[in-house]
Amino acid sequence: MQSKRIQSKTEYGITRREFLWMSSMSAAGFMVGCAANPVTGKPQFMMVSEAQEIKIDNQHSPHQFSSDYGPLQDTSLNNYIDRTGKNIAAQTHRPHMPYSFRGVNATYVNAYAFPGGSIAATRGILLALENEAQLAALLGHELGHVNARHTAEQMSKGTLINLFVGGLATVAGTQSSGLGSLTSQLGMVGAGALLASYSRDNEREADALGLGYMVRAGYNSNEFVGLMDMLRRMSKNKPNAIELMFATHPMSDERYRTAVEAVHTQYRSSQSFPLYRDRYMDHTAKLRKIKLTIEAMQEGESLMAKSKYGEAEIHFSKALRQTPEDYAGLVMMSKCQLAQKHYAKARSFAEKAKTVYPQEGQAYYLAGFAKIKQKDYASAYEEFKYYEKLLSGNPNIIFFKGFSLEGMQHITESANEYYKYLKIVNQGEKAKHAYKRLVEWGYIKT
Ligand SMILES: [Zn+2]
Repeated sequence: MQSKRIQSKTEYGITRREFLWMSSMSAAGFMVGCAANPVTGKPQFMMVSEAQEIKIDNQHSPHQFSSDYGPLQDTSLNNYIDRTGKNIAAQTHRPHMPYSFRGVNATYVNAYAFPGGSIAATRGILLALENEAQLAALLGHELGHVNARHTAEQMSKGTLINLFVGGLATVAGTQSSGLGSLTSQLGMVGAGALLASYSRDNEREADALGLGYMVRAGYNSNEFVGLMDMLRRMSKNKPNAIELMFATHPMSDERYRTAVEAVHTQYRSSQSFPLYRDRYMDHTAKLRKIKLTIEAMQEGESLMAKSKYGEAEIHFSKALRQTPEDYAGLVMMSKCQLAQKHYAKARSFAEKAKTVYPQEGQAYYLAGFAKIKQKDYASAYEEFKYYEKLLSGNPNIIFFKGFSLEGMQHITESANEYYKYLKIVNQGEKAKHAYKRLVEWGYIKT
């Protein structure tokens, strides 16, 4: 009577993928209703509560923002994005959610939402938008995902497994996968690793909701199509910069036609609504002044993804000549130097980045990594400790603290960190190293 599918499962009756998902979720206390589906025998997650959506957001969004080089230091632009977003959020189906909007320093083109309503847009896309109505369309679409609870839906289906818990965030995002060994050595959050990849149905629904929200907030719906036109143009001119956006928000001709249709029928009356072009241009004036810097970084990142580090360095140098205090530029350059094994240079760019944006963690991480490579373990340890103070919950930091302590010959303290690491992560090179040491030092009997 039993189907073949059930027999092919592990002795526990679940696949490894499901096991990883369950163990990471239950460890974090996320699992609400888990029951075996009577038809498939698979564990099925009945629901994710709103409180859990907010908790997951709080745990994960800070790591993603940090991986995207932190919120913009231009507070006036950030506040403008937040105001614009909250104005639209008031028109949604879940107006009570704790929404927050910001720009982030990353230069690739993307926008994303976490399930509790933390929403971000990169400098790459902010630079490309032509007016406030397009910003409203972008944020409206992200609000659509939050309101339709697409992340919770994916979690319930078990299709979203690359959350941070359990160190699974090292699953490479499309953007940084080309960094190969550097990314895995560093164990940093790959670009987009924490982001949900939506289905075509999700996208259609988010478009429909986003259009409705932006029109209710008083914007011209034509610009929803204007945004899509801009993105489609960009996918031809800058395919690398926009790759991650289309990987997480799949674009299709059908999606485009549906939006055009809705704008010309259902939302026809909004075509006389304003675009607020001047207001957008005023608030983004400072950003547009460094357009060449942003473009040089986009070039550099795309070359990094192809492992062309020497060529990438030329573009990062160009970016930093134009804008020497750009945090993202300094951090990217530090990574580029690490990739070329120029540890002293990597360290000095990371040190400079720390002074430019001391509240952001990534530069400390890179400085610590460069110091490990220079066998300056005591100083490396301080960097990782400081990173953890700024942003806790990244298991890789625990490993690197252990590794630094090992270098300092502080065996007991090192063993403690390795043990903590192995409780969270049980696969990969770092786990192997930690395990090996614990055996050698007699903490684990084999
Ligand atoms: Zn989307």
